[in-house]
Amino acid sequence: MVLESLANSLRNTLKKIANATHVDKTLIKEVIREIQRALLQADVNVKMVINLTNAVETRALTEKPAPGTSSREHVIRIIYDELVKVLGHSKEISLKKHIIMMIGLYGNGKTTTSGKLAKFFQKRGLKPGLIAGDTHRPAAYDQLLQLAKKVNVPFYGEPKAKNAVKVVRTGLKELKNSDIIIIDTSGRHALEDDLIREVEAISRISKADEKFLVIDATVGQQAGPQAKAFHKAVGITGVILTKLDGSAKGGGALSAVSETKAPIVYVGTGEHLEDIERFDPPRFISRLLGMGDLQTLLEKVQDVTDQEIAEDTAKKMLSGKFTLYDMYEQMKMLSDMGPLQKIMNLLPFNMPGVNKMEKGTLEDTQDKLKKFRIIMDSMTKAEMNNPQVVKTSRVQRIARGAGCDVKDVKALLKYYNMSRKAIKGFSSNRKIRKKLMQQLKFSDGMM
Ligand code: GDP
Repeated sequence: MVLESLANSLRNTLKKIANATHVDKTLIKEVIREIQRALLQADVNVKMVINLTNAVETRALTEKPAPGTSSREHVIRIIYDELVKVLGHSKEISLKKHIIMMIGLYGNGKTTTSGKLAKFFQKRGLKPGLIAGDTHRPAAYDQLLQLAKKVNVPFYGEPKAKNAVKVVRTGLKELKNSDIIIIDTSGRHALEDDLIREVEAISRISKADEKFLVIDATVGQQAGPQAKAFHKAVGITGVILTKLDGSAKGGGALSAVSETKAPIVYVGTGEHLEDIERFDPPRFISRLLGMGDLQTLLEKVQDVTDQEIAEDTAKKMLSGKFTLYDMYEQMKMLSDMGPLQKIMNLLPFNMPGVNKMEKGTLEDTQDKLKKFRIIMDSMTKAEMNNPQVVKTSRVQRIARGAGCDVKDVKALLKYYNMSRKAIKGFSSNRKIRKKLMQQLKFSDGMM
């Protein structure tokens, strides 16, 4: 996964919102701080981070959720929107006959990406051809020839040639039957005058439809000035960011290039020929945030949570008024959400206690939940509201009514008392309360 550590931080932050009973100002501020930290660690420019998080904060605190949308979904949607905005629009890729020129400095991945693009178009049913227009770097000719052989596409190059323009002119004639002609060009250590002249000449004689600047993403925010300078000098039509795999600075390169308004067309995600992706900001951000999983989690919670009941229960619990009815509601919500294993898989990995639960334990818990609910169905209203009145004779009656053992009813009462005590002990600290809620699970040997 590209930008893995940024993805992990952002996902955990969003899951925090998805799991919250209540979205309030404190939570929004906390989430914003986490997003800032994550983006800065991914090398995104400070000013950009501040603008983005200000926009998120203002919108989250002032905009009303759209009808049928929960406040949690609303905030997540705002974060997604604003992140997509930072990355700009996607550029359409033509699948018609056209000529592409690859431009860039030494070692940025021009030659490798030429081969990757040939494969990319070939997979889409087109007939690409490669021209070795890099006459500066001695190994470039061989490298491109090998790539052409691997992909199995026509190639034109002259191993000892010095005049790149001449090679390209002949190459265009030789490869006239190809749909897409990809011209690799020479690099330099810096944007030098003779490089500009060469690029201009090749562009003129080839009438290239696309001039793609290839930049190594590990340069981070420096990718921005580089894109700007090349655009001013030779007029580029798009940027390809390479080596985004495992680059901690990838966020810096992506955001800085987007800021120059030069569209990012592809990203390179590895050394192999298949490691290239079209760059589409909405899709990229969705994947980064794990929107698929998140949406599923939100939908599950949404389906069964009557927000008012949940909030009411939470309030009652915190005021110490936690009855068996409240516990019943919670259990009902939990079992209505479906197999616990599925729910657990959607939760963040760092949830205390949860990920250590084995499959068997989860199934046991689900069975216990079911049994507890049956027992509570056999209790009177007074008993549910005030479980302290349930003494031995009532326990026997309830057990008979529910068709279970006396020890099962006792286990339920024991669990209720433990939960109540834990809830009573909740401090006013929101974080501790949340943690305790998450840790509240059935311990083995209770029944
Ligand atoms: P050129 O001088 O611009 O033609 O650069 P090359 O195509 O020779 O690439 C320089 C190095 O970067 C080579 O070792 C490539 O394998 C490597 N490279 C290119 N693209 C990527 C990428 O997306 N990810 C990784 N990890 N390496 C890449």
